[in-house]
Amino acid sequence: MRFDVITLFPEMFSAIKSEGVVARGIKKSLLSINTWQLRDFSNNKYKNVDDKPYGGGAGMVMQVRPIRDCINKIKQKKPKTKVIYLSPQGKKLTHKLAKELSELDSITLLCGRYEGVDERIIEHDIDMEVSIGDYVISGGELASMVLIDAVSRQIPGVLGNTDSLNDSFANNLLDYPHYTRPDTIDNQKVPEVLLSGHQANIDSWRSEQSIIKTREKRKDLLQK
Ligand code: SAM
Repeated sequence: MRFDVITLFPEMFSAIKSEGVVARGIKKSLLSINTWQLRDFSNNKYKNVDDKPYGGGAGMVMQVRPIRDCINKIKQKKPKTKVIYLSPQGKKLTHKLAKELSELDSITLLCGRYEGVDERIIEHDIDMEVSIGDYVISGGELASMVLIDAVSRQIPGVLGNTDSLNDSFANNLLDYPHYTRPDTIDNQKVPEVLLSGHQANIDSWRSEQSIIKTREKRKDLLQK
């Protein structure tokens, strides 16, 4: 999977490129993250890429030309790339969507700033808008990183073979509880069954706990 990210802050991506699961995927050549500095596509000496909104009002709007030129440049390399604009107005990022996106070969992520992008970009250049939740953050970079992480976990080989199978939402259930050493701390004990060494009993306890947790915390998932 190749991610191309259009951003005013490419340095922010050094965090996921160098640490954790995504970095491991990059090391194994299972994915790559290529950042594009939008200012490099500006046509003025100040490298501006935004302007005042027509109709007045607060904030600035990201202009069409630099974004369109950048997307077209990426499409020279990856003509079929899926172009996603991270936006609070988009389709909610879910496990299901992350899994679907993980099957693609190339994704281009457009990170908005200020009031967002000129609407004509959304109408003409974007395949899909994706939101990380019903709240507004200050830029699309963190949202892009959330998407990259969630999608990368679903790419075969990035995690261990079975690591993500029981993740919350994978089967419309929440994950079961996890414990590690020591087996007793401050009078709190690990459930006996996990120390029993009886794998079938452990598996059935975990399945049951998964359902209990889901019923307690996210009943809506069980209805699915
Ligand atoms: N004026 C916009 C609105 O209310 O719909 C919000 C603009 S926001 C300050 C700047 C940028 O942050 C957006 O263009 C988008 O790229 C990103 N962003 C903000 N909230 C987001 C969310 N919930 N999901 C994905 N991206 C988000």
